[in-house]
Amino acid sequence: MLCVVCLVPLVSAAQSKQFASKPLEITDVTVIDTTGAPAKPGQSVVVEGNRISQVGDAKKVHAPKGAQVVNARGLYAIPGLWDMHVHIGETDRTFPMLVANGVLGVRNMGGHLDELKRWRAQVVSGELLGPHLVISGPLVDGLNPAHPDHAVVVHDPAGGRAIVDSLKQSGVDFINVFDNLTSEEYYAIVDESRKVGLPFAGHLPQGVWASDASTAGQLSIEHLFGSLAESSKNFDQILHLNDSPPASPAEKAARALTLLKLEVDGFDPERLKNLAVLFVKNGTWQVPALVARRIVPFLNDEAAVNDPRLAYIGQKDRKEWNELRDRMIKDNPPEFWTLHRAAYQEELTITRDYHRDGVSILAGTDAGGPPFVIPGFDLHNELAALVDAGFTPMEALQSVTLDAARFLGRADNFGTVANGKAADLVLLDANPLDDIHNTQKIRAVVVQGRYLDRAALDALLTHAKESASH
Ligand SMILES: [Zn+2]
Repeated sequence: MLCVVCLVPLVSAAQSKQFASKPLEITDVTVIDTTGAPAKPGQSVVVEGNRISQVGDAKKVHAPKGAQVVNARGLYAIPGLWDMHVHIGETDRTFPMLVANGVLGVRNMGGHLDELKRWRAQVVSGELLGPHLVISGPLVDGLNPAHPDHAVVVHDPAGGRAIVDSLKQSGVDFINVFDNLTSEEYYAIVDESRKVGLPFAGHLPQGVWASDASTAGQLSIEHLFGSLAESSKNFDQILHLNDSPPASPAEKAARALTLLKLEVDGFDPERLKNLAVLFVKNGTWQVPALVARRIVPFLNDEAAVNDPRLAYIGQKDRKEWNELRDRMIKDNPPEFWTLHRAAYQEELTITRDYHRDGVSILAGTDAGGPPFVIPGFDLHNELAALVDAGFTPMEALQSVTLDAARFLGRADNFGTVANGKAADLVLLDANPLDDIHNTQKIRAVVVQGRYLDRAALDALLTHAKESASH
């Protein structure tokens, strides 16, 4: 695998082993620090090493001698963005795509532990140009895991505890619970995670509903799992349908559709409100990953296959995605598409209602998981989806900066533009508070103190495209 930094002409081999040694001054920039404070024009931001060393009125800030000075008049500086749900399987294309899109931190929700640990260390040392990684290592799953390559399988509650202990020893940042755990295994994992001091997050195993997971202390629930079912007036019927396992794959598919219909038809905003109250009380975060959730409902639309950003995706993945799409179109009745589109609309409503009721929400894309989600680029679409679901542009920005840092317990280091924080910045051509789509107008990125102008970002994207083409 080729090393990304070697291919970026502006990042020399000497720099690739260490943080930028020359200080950087970004002058006359409008700072949006995402604390909720108004945009501050006429600021200077000074970066030394991988830290912000000064932020303030351009007239009062004095950069150290020999600093690289960038006149940023007319530009807007925001903190580096965090995608809070990704699956990184390779770095040669994914890291350039993330960095070029200003995504300078990610929470990885399942992958190869050794690889992830290596990348996490290489990013910190400056050896690899990429986002900060917060990692769970593998999915902790039960028998017959859906993603055997990325999962560690639990066979009984004691085995669940042992896996938590060994993951703790291996240096993971959190435990990632998945679908096929039994509820006994889940609660053993919950208990052991608490004992060893690791947060746990992820999916909902069979028989563990969103309210149960919230009460158990699960820090985040992905994909709004459980919300549609538990807020349905048909919840008792849904519970009953889950009593016996389906006998065949065909029965499983038919049952999934019956369940979805019960969920969609029974949606009750009052019941949803009760869930919201519980999540607020327990501090349970939701990661709707709307860009990923809308893939299936609109998979039969031509737009998916005509997306020009697919040029960044490796040929093997592209082929698999198209085959999966063809299979799903062939296998599923018209009702499937109608129901999934209705469910997606209700999930937008759920996101809106949760946000209104004070539930903490993070932005994640699930890039590297479902087909047709494009790393980096799609985090900006997630922000736009959150604004469509009632967030102000500031709140959407906070979900990928300050709120993400708070969720991770790293707000002392990340998530805003202030003295002493990590020098991870995105410079925009237009004000994202006026229109959230302006986060896509990226003029430059500062990643751990390294200044990458538009030409350097384009070089990263060109490299990703070339790598995807063979
Ligand atoms: Zn995922």
